[in-house]
Amino acid sequence: MTSMNAVVLDEWGGDLTVRQVDRPDPGSGEVRVDVRACAVTRTIENAVQGGLSDDPALTPRVPGHEFAGVVSEVGAGVDLSVGDRVLAYFYLTCGTCDHCRRGEANRCLRFRGWYGVNCDGAYAESAVLPAANALPLPEETGFAAGAIAADGLATPLHVCERTGVDDTDSVLVVGAAGRIGVHLSQLAASRGAHVVAADIDPERLAHVDDLTPDTVVPVDASGGEFASRVRDATPRGAGPTVVVDTVGDTDTLGDAWEAMAMGGQVVSLTTHHDRTFDVPMKEYVVKEASFLGSRYATKDQVVRAARLFADGRVDPVVRRRVGLDEVPAVHEELRAGETFGTTVLEP
Ligand SMILES: [Zn+2]
Repeated sequence: MTSMNAVVLDEWGGDLTVRQVDRPDPGSGEVRVDVRACAVTRTIENAVQGGLSDDPALTPRVPGHEFAGVVSEVGAGVDLSVGDRVLAYFYLTCGTCDHCRRGEANRCLRFRGWYGVNCDGAYAESAVLPAANALPLPEETGFAAGAIAADGLATPLHVCERTGVDDTDSVLVVGAAGRIGVHLSQLAASRGAHVVAADIDPERLAHVDDLTPDTVVPVDASGGEFASRVRDATPRGAGPTVVVDTVGDTDTLGDAWEAMAMGGQVVSLTTHHDRTFDVPMKEYVVKEASFLGSRYATKDQVVRAARLFADGRVDPVVRRRVGLDEVPAVHEELRAGETFGTTVLEP
């Protein structure tokens, strides 16, 4: 069997190591993909720490899910060709339940787990992918952009379509310097919304300011009076009509709730097990407010996210490109909260 280099996790919460492993062969219904770009993200760090599954039977594991590449071998029963450009869908789904059949794979009733958690992922030179997860990467979309589209822009697209963000909205993005936040800020602006991009510390805010259009207003979430400063940053001081929380800090979310316009919608993207957002029921009624969870994206949205990059409606934000050897160190930084924006692995 041919060998390849990969980043391997021997136990959940343990260290990542770079070593040679057997190059996987695709089984029936699968393809092997030469990995051209894979985002190195906080979502993967959370998975490495056992935040998605801590089942010891699933290790050793090659993590990595947000990737794009080229099909290099096709398993039995797969109608794809060697050379096809693909990007990966994160969720392992049944394909046959009502939601899967109507194109809502993110709501699969027989959810089978996550690519890179329940099976080996793309921190490697090659990765085997279920053909159902190998989505078409538009010819005009680069591989790094395709990798980011797979989650970093697909998730914001799902948020914008779930809430119907348009040119009548003011959108507050909490955690705007992260890869979801910076792409969401751009996307909401491209849909005509006024965007208030909140994050902490000057370096992160400068990053957001550099990478978003002038219609995106950075606001420091760390100082006092956050609610009134957010309201002041919206047209007529009316407050945001949509609040998107990518962080899960309940104090900041409480201030955002206070700043929110009448009829506003709060969207949560975080999955902390131990945090609750506690608002008296009367406040929902008086404000006609909604609280929505938003879960990843549909396959259609993943492909359309790649198309948004190809069409230049949103720019892929890549802070750094690294090789396999550097991935463990990037995860150390993610763990310590010392990095932000998107790092892309190019094996
Ligand atoms: Zn399903």
